Amino acid sequence: MRIFAATSRYVQGPAALEALGQHARALGQNAFVVTDADMAKLLGERVEASFAAADMQASIRIFPGEITHAAIESLAAEARAFAADVIVGLGGGKALDTAKGVALKLGARSVSVPTIASNDGPASAAIAVYDDNHIMQDILHLPRNPELVLVDTQVIANAPVRFLLAGIGDAISKKFEAEACAAAGAHTLLGTPASLTGLMAADTCYRILREHAVAAVAAVREKRVDAHLEALVEATVLLSTISFENGGLSLAHALARGFSYLERARGTLHGAHVAYGLLVQLAMEKRDDAFIGELCDFYREVGLPTQLQDFGLDQPTSAEIRQLAASSMESPSVKRFAPPVQAAQLEQAIERVQRLTATA
Ligand SMILES: [Zn+2]
Repeated sequence: MRIFAATSRYVQGPAALEALGQHARALGQNAFVVTDADMAKLLGERVEASFAAADMQASIRIFPGEITHAAIESLAAEARAFAADVIVGLGGGKALDTAKGVALKLGARSVSVPTIASNDGPASAAIAVYDDNHIMQDILHLPRNPELVLVDTQVIANAPVRFLLAGIGDAISKKFEAEACAAAGAHTLLGTPASLTGLMAADTCYRILREHAVAAVAAVREKRVDAHLEALVEATVLLSTISFENGGLSLAHALARGFSYLERARGTLHGAHVAYGLLVQLAMEKRDDAFIGELCDFYREVGLPTQLQDFGLDQPTSAEIRQLAASSMESPSVKRFAPPVQAAQLEQAIERVQRLTATA
């Protein structure tokens, strides 16, 4: 058996925000919008105008900042009182996941409007729930992917470039993770072997990043939308998600889990962790130095991290490297790799990446 899952409508372009109501209208009447204070101020009026033009009722609510079970519960009560049938997340990953959590509680339709392209979350059915210390507690799943994902590329171009870099990091691993997952005979998050469509998406995602990332990053530094950025955003927001849900994850994402326990790496982004995690995965795959070195050259050109020093760990200690390896072992993605992984091998792979990138 194979299962393919994805959003049913993806809309992307400059000024796409003006078309939000028009596309959401097919899903319901009352839109409950979950966002943060900055986005409410920056985009709230445009969002309200777009729903009004589509004859929909809209209510914009500010979420508390961290996605916890308590935050989801309290917003769900407000959404119920509003008789919401469409729940819209507007903002970064936490606002979007909170909105998905509310949609799950209400059994309502889910819409994602990411204002940064920093990860593969917006189009995904997965909802990462944290505790107040930002340690991941739970992963919940919507019964279906968000029905609508709408990305205004001018909004993405106006956001700080570090977010786009993280999105590239979260996407660049997908081809290698899908291939490793398939080689291990492991299943995707849908519980089946990868579909050909999932593997194709992962491969295409990687090719688009290699072709357009450098130019797209340059465009965002100038807050400019061009064809390179359009291509890159489609890869990081749509293909990256199709890849991991339908192709499977592996060691790069296991390493990303490990990073959340590294005290000195606090505040650095998931996508940056994944980018580094991919280098470790390639070391575990026993790729030769030239292969890893070529990818590192590309990382440097784009602005992605190649060593632990890039996460604020100047002179990472062997205890930190051991901890990164050990906590990565807690991720279920560590099992989507063959042969079976031991913490000591991960530790050696991290050390190999550190040696390789130090001499470059
Ligand atoms: Zn990810």
